[in-house]
Parts: sequence; C-alpha cells; structure tokens
Amino acid sequence: MLPNRLLRSLLALLALGLLAACETVEETRRSQFVLPFLTDGFMAELGAEAYAEETANYRVLTTTREADMLARVGRRIAQASGRDYQWEFKLLDAPDVVNAFCLPGGKIAFYTGILPICANEDGIAIVMGHEVAHATSRHGAERMSQGLVAELLMAGAAAGLEETKWSDETKGLVLGALGLAGTLAVLLPYSRDHETEADEIGLRFAIRAGYDPNEAPRLWERMAKLGDGGPEFLSTHPDPLKRAERLRELIPRLVAEEKARAEQPAR
Ligand SMILES: [Zn+2]
Repeated sequence: MLPNRLLRSLLALLALGLLAACETVEETRRSQFVLPFLTDGFMAELGAEAYAEETANYRVLTTTREADMLARVGRRIAQASGRDYQWEFKLLDAPDVVNAFCLPGGKIAFYTGILPICANEDGIAIVMGHEVAHATSRHGAERMSQGLVAELLMAGAAAGLEETKWSDETKGLVLGALGLAGTLAVLLPYSRDHETEADEIGLRFAIRAGYDPNEAPRLWERMAKLGDGGPEFLSTHPDPLKRAERLRELIPRLVAEEKARAEQPAR
C-alpha cells in the first residue's frame, strides 16, 4: 500500500495530467491517451535504464556477420522512421530466446534465438520495423498511463479524495516512484491493439527502407510453426497465422501509399 501522502500527490498529479493528455499517433492518426509528465525525454531515460539492465545479462555480439546485418537494418529502419533518437542496436547471445524489443528512445535488442525465424535480412527488417514502431508510437508511455490511471482510481476510491495539495518536494518523490515502476513497465507485454498498430507501422517503415514486405506474412507463418506454449514472443502477441493473413491483405495498400509518399516533395 502506498503511503497516504504519496497517494494524494499522485492523485493531484493525475488530475493535472488529465487536463492535457490526448495525442495522436502520426502514422495511423489514432488519438491516444498519454499522461503529460510521461514525456519523450522521461520515457527515453527509463528506456535507457531498462536497456542497460537487460543487455547486461547477456554477451553482446559485435563482430559476427549477423551483428553487422542487424546494425545495418537498424540504421535503415531508424532513418525510415524519421525519428531523431539516440539509436542503439545490440545482438544478444541467447539462442533459446525468440524475442526482440525496442525501448522508448530507440534502444533496440535482438536475441539470437529470433534469427532463424527472421531467416534473412528482409525478415530482420520486418521484426525491426515492428519493434521500432512500438517506440515511435509511444506505446510504452500509453501503457504506463493506462496502468497508472487504473491503479490510482482504485487506490483513490479506497483512500478517499481529501487533501490533494502537494509541494515540489512530494512531486519529486512521486516522479522517483514512477521512475522505479517505469523501469519494470517498459519491458511488459503490449496489448493486442498495440501489436496490430506496430505491425502496420512497422511494415511501412520496412517498405520505406527498401525491404521486401512480402517477408512479413512468411515470417509469421514460420513463427506459427513453433507451436503452442513456445517462446515469449508468441505468448505476448496475437495469433501468428491471423497476423500473417492480415499483413498479406495490407501489403498492396501500404506499398501504394508509401510509393505516393516517396514521390511527394520532402516535407
Ligand atoms: Zn510487439
């Protein structure tokens, strides 16, 4: 249970946050709810912290052919995303882990276990695009906002809403507490809607970077063959065969839209 003073401060901060919290995902025009104090800068700090913690658990491969390929794909996808992040790309020596992630602020890691599923450079680009799209669409901040609101509403209902004044000192305390929670939260699974959105935006990034989008459905079909109760990447994501089907349907429209975009004068 949170101390009462801290709880009241969190509620006050939340009330302020709700006044100006609606934003838009650039590529899909979906409006999203992000608490204003979860700024890109703040989220990037959390991302960098979690990145250091997670990558320290593995040997980082830097001189292999695959590591070179990962860095090359990463640079191209990063450029296609148009975001000015402090990008980092790490290949972690973990043959049993079929997973990859991109944390807020552009901190990317692939575990070697996902490389056989990627199968080739286009496959790496599809996974890279998907992970980068989670970061550029601020899915981490959105998920934290939803989680915090739900938690605080419940705690608030239990504790009552009196005395919501707070000082700079308590605000510092609150942000510290959020930081601790956030380090854990940035590595939690995403919702199904976030996955679907990351699939679409990621495919755009891959097309824009010059990769073959047709590798996307093939990749999810390979993922499906891993079967039930398999890797983390499967259990936290929607059904891979449905996903392959949806992506296959999306490809013609996205290719056409990206072609039109490329032919327009630079923005
Ligand atoms: Zn995902």
